[in-house]
Amino acid sequence: MAEAVVSSGAGAQNGTDGAADREASRLSTAEGWWTRQDSIAQIVYWTIHAACGLVFFVGVSTADLVLLAALFYARMFAITGGYHRYFAHKTYKTSRAFQFVLAALGCAAIQKGPLWWAGNHRNHHKHADQPEDLHSPSHGLWHAHQGWIFEGRWDGTPLEQIEDFARYPELVWLNRNHHVPPLVLAGLCLAIGGFSGLVWGFVVSTVLLWHATYTINSLSHTWGSRRYDTTDTSRNNFWLALLTLGEGWHNNHHHFCASARQGFFWWEIDITYYLLRGLAAVGLIWDIREPPAHVVQRTAVAKAALREAA
Ligand SMILES: [Zn+2]
Ligand SMILES: [Zn+2]
Repeated sequence: MAEAVVSSGAGAQNGTDGAADREASRLSTAEGWWTRQDSIAQIVYWTIHAACGLVFFVGVSTADLVLLAALFYARMFAITGGYHRYFAHKTYKTSRAFQFVLAALGCAAIQKGPLWWAGNHRNHHKHADQPEDLHSPSHGLWHAHQGWIFEGRWDGTPLEQIEDFARYPELVWLNRNHHVPPLVLAGLCLAIGGFSGLVWGFVVSTVLLWHATYTINSLSHTWGSRRYDTTDTSRNNFWLALLTLGEGWHNNHHHFCASARQGFFWWEIDITYYLLRGLAAVGLIWDIREPPAHVVQRTAVAKAALREAA
């Protein structure tokens, strides 16, 4: 485990001087009730896992499976195309209204709020596979996959990493109340598909979505090939790219994280990127960033450009 562990809580990540106090008071505005209820959040997390057992009692219909797949992939895109490629890396531009839609859909994936998610992810890139990395597999595969979530150390939103989006009050509200979109979604599943719709469409879909997302932190740093000699352990993996709509090209991503496109070559399937192109075609997003040719090539020039872009 990492050394220099600080105590749990929002302000604890931000130093020990007056700046930390200022940050702590600002952080409190971005934290909701859930952030301070660590044990309850864990109970909810494991209860949703256990509730998957209800599939043996409610049966299954084609409509249930369609709902499961639709909500798995729709929310996967909200995480990959929204939380990751927009809020964490700003790889394209959009309107304030559509930005809010992306944030709300991301909340429905039950991976906390957009400021928390994107701020912590920026920290991952900053410290990838170093002691300060939130979820490096060098601390163990369980830790990288989901153990880090339960440490308490990362519960607070690192606002100093995400000031660009923290200036939007509607995003701060969602960050504080990230439980609202999942509750609305659960209600919709119940209304559309009855109890079996709730179990398959919400419960099972959410657990699959969690663990598919987590593979990028665990398996994408341990399983696959390395095209670029990055300073971390990131890998490219075709199967994980299929599962996560393109995030499995993780070595590409660590090599040049400013790109909306993570599959650098035509054979590197990156469905999130295709969907982003579709959103651009109808005018919802624009200024999609691509990897320059010299960055894609494994050259010393590419390394220098990468350092400049960081
Ligand atoms: Zn990574
Ligand atoms: Zn990233």
